[in-house]
Amino acid sequence: MELNTLRDEARDLLDETVALRRTLHRWPELGNELPVTRETVLGALEGLPLQVTLHETTSGIAAVLDGGKPGPTVLLRGDMDALPLKEDTDLDFESATEGQMHACGHDTHTAMLVGAAKLLSSRRADIPGRVLFMFQPGEEGHGGARFMLDEGLLDLAPKADGTASPVTGAYALHITSNLPTGWIATKGGSIMASADTMLITVTGRGGHASQPHHALDPIPIACEIVQAMQMMVTRTIDVFDPSVVTVGRITAGTTNNVIPETAEILGTIRAISEATRNKVRDGIRRVAEGVAAAHDAQVAVEFSDGYPVTANDAGAADFALNVVNEIIGKNNTVRLPNPVMGAEDFSYVLNRVPGAMLFLGGTGADRNPATAAPNHSNRVLFDEEAMVNGMAVYSAMALRHLVGAPT
Ligand SMILES: [Zn+2]
Ligand SMILES: [Zn+2]
Repeated sequence: MELNTLRDEARDLLDETVALRRTLHRWPELGNELPVTRETVLGALEGLPLQVTLHETTSGIAAVLDGGKPGPTVLLRGDMDALPLKEDTDLDFESATEGQMHACGHDTHTAMLVGAAKLLSSRRADIPGRVLFMFQPGEEGHGGARFMLDEGLLDLAPKADGTASPVTGAYALHITSNLPTGWIATKGGSIMASADTMLITVTGRGGHASQPHHALDPIPIACEIVQAMQMMVTRTIDVFDPSVVTVGRITAGTTNNVIPETAEILGTIRAISEATRNKVRDGIRRVAEGVAAAHDAQVAVEFSDGYPVTANDAGAADFALNVVNEIIGKNNTVRLPNPVMGAEDFSYVLNRVPGAMLFLGGTGADRNPATAAPNHSNRVLFDEEAMVNGMAVYSAMALRHLVGAPT
């Protein structure tokens, strides 16, 4: 199947894709319930030959394009949710909802996935298999992908012609302001980190600040735990299978002359392998309990599971880079040397289906990607031109996955 016209076809769709993106941008929604976004997406998909399933536990949409020939199913993911922050971009389509902003570019993902649905629909008769478009809510910490999997996202009925068509590959794009417009970057193996939360509560005895020997001050103990955790990471974790432990908040006390009863340490734990993820959690518990015991204090250590490590299938990442080279050229492709320590709930999909997540550059030539406001910033800007390559890459990965590379 010839793919060399895909980029031109994507460019023809750019105006309507930009319009959709700006509508989504203007009306951001948070979490797993995105009623306005869902209606907007459904409106944009109207008239396409898709079997649409509206998920019930979330606002997720699963849309299937059933190709004209037998074959497996390939999944393309676009996330739809925004973030809780005030936008300061001064764009004329700036968020109209105070305190909510599409600061991670998910509005572009949703619009590009709609564009890919249009591109692929026009080739429907020639497609050997199916394409499952996964429009997911709740990526920003709400586990939207997991809810969609639990609701049977991958448990598709056979194709309309009765042939089996299991999901054999899954691909996602994520726009980033750290790369020039239209560039694609990925790697095999771990590409994003796991992200767990730790909460450590040190309990001593309150008292007068002038007489610490009559109290048991939890504050220096908490400080010692924070330091000891950093030492534990550098001395026990392999630098080539790293972890980041960051304490983002310490809470204790009320004033200068009172020793409080408790001190609380809240932080995040990042790792790029499940082995290190578990080792760090064990280390944090050991260090916190050991330091507290040394000072005769009590400690409670709680972890809450965040997203697992996002692991690209090595073969799928190579395949994706080859497809990108084929349609947008080698000059705009980057094989990443390292994972990114952010987290992604596409990890849940990749734990079930081999596939890959790719980054798409979104900073135009008028700005420097190294200093541009990053994703999640109140000032982040994404160059809409990047959506041309995004739509073409989504579509090409699906087609090549089903049709195979030219020989
Ligand atoms: Zn984000
Ligand atoms: Zn994101």
